[in-house]
Amino acid sequence: MSSKKLIYLDNNATTAVAPEVFEAMRPYLCERYGNPGSIHTFGGSVMAKIEEAREQVAALIGASRKDRHGKFTEIIFTSCGSESDNTAVFSALRACPKRKKVVISVVEHPAVLSLGKELEKRGYPVSYIPVDSKGRLDMERYEEMVDSETAIVSIMWANNETGNIYPVEKCAEIAHRYGALFHTDAVQAIGKIPCNVSDSEIDMLSLSGHKLHAPKGVGVLYVRRGINFHPMQIGGHQERGRRAGTENVASIIALGKAAELAMKSIRDENTRVKALRDRLEQGICGSIPKAMVLGDPENRLPNTSLIGFEAVEGESILMMMDRLGICASSGSACTTGSLEPSHVLRAMGVPYTVAHGAIRFSLSTYNTADEIEFVIREMPGIIAWLRKLSPFWKE
Ligand code: PLP
Repeated sequence: MSSKKLIYLDNNATTAVAPEVFEAMRPYLCERYGNPGSIHTFGGSVMAKIEEAREQVAALIGASRKDRHGKFTEIIFTSCGSESDNTAVFSALRACPKRKKVVISVVEHPAVLSLGKELEKRGYPVSYIPVDSKGRLDMERYEEMVDSETAIVSIMWANNETGNIYPVEKCAEIAHRYGALFHTDAVQAIGKIPCNVSDSEIDMLSLSGHKLHAPKGVGVLYVRRGINFHPMQIGGHQERGRRAGTENVASIIALGKAAELAMKSIRDENTRVKALRDRLEQGICGSIPKAMVLGDPENRLPNTSLIGFEAVEGESILMMMDRLGICASSGSACTTGSLEPSHVLRAMGVPYTVAHGAIRFSLSTYNTADEIEFVIREMPGIIAWLRKLSPFWKE
């Protein structure tokens, strides 16, 4: 890699491990490497740190219920957001075998959407809630879809591409009216906006460490106390028999620390980071013709901006940005490499010539005003250059 300065605006894809988080996890890789399931003190003492991490995560999402031993048992550590999503849906289908139907939105991350397609192949009826041109859920259609056959509804708290925030508390109430369980994929929302399960009827919630300055390979599934839960991974007694496999100790401890930091940085996300994001949008859209912000202008994550540049190819924009050391994403990190507009932009009905040139900028608490000004200065030249070569561009 060259020594040019990196401007990292791809934080919805993954985030840097915070230095404080790395310091917290480091001893558990090299010095205190014992197995938390061991009887000896060297291993067993690690378990206390896992329980501390569980409490830190519980505090971040308001999962305040404890069992009679004072443990925050609603938090199950997993390997990632995708595992948590899959576990929630499969658990619900096993918990209510008489109900077969699954309701999800068309804009879910592949961790839920591809699972929906797979369930259809296995004979489960799956309904997909549509969105409008701004990516907002069609709540009327949702109410029509959920019924007494529905086992589970899974709707994301915030979308990874547009940053749209969805009314999951309201959606959970509707699901419960019909006796269905409600799960939310909160992977993009946690750490960016306040998310409190205790104020809501949400039964299960997924989150992922690497989206909030913890390492990759650790996640959480919150399961409300009293919910009939069926594990997906069978084996040892870890996580009270709800997720077998020796714990990813260092990463779990890191996630606990990251959760603690996130509680403090949410304010920064919603003030300073949001102001940087707004300045980026205003700077780019004010200087580049036919550049438009996509998504819901009223209900968006404070760090995310999806901007469509008409008549240019998103991959080419990314390549030119990359030469300047600017990292962003076209639509979704997971669809990069494919030349089709993302399923989210297609569901919103964004015209092909705009969807193709959509770039997602996602900021974090580590971005600075200087970085944003640099991007604002460079983007007009990149777009003008590419438009000169574009057969679709008309002044
Ligand atoms: N859900 C959403 C909304 C995401 O953005 C992602 C990752 O981008 C995931 C789930 C998957 O999380 P993980 O990478 O931890 O499996």
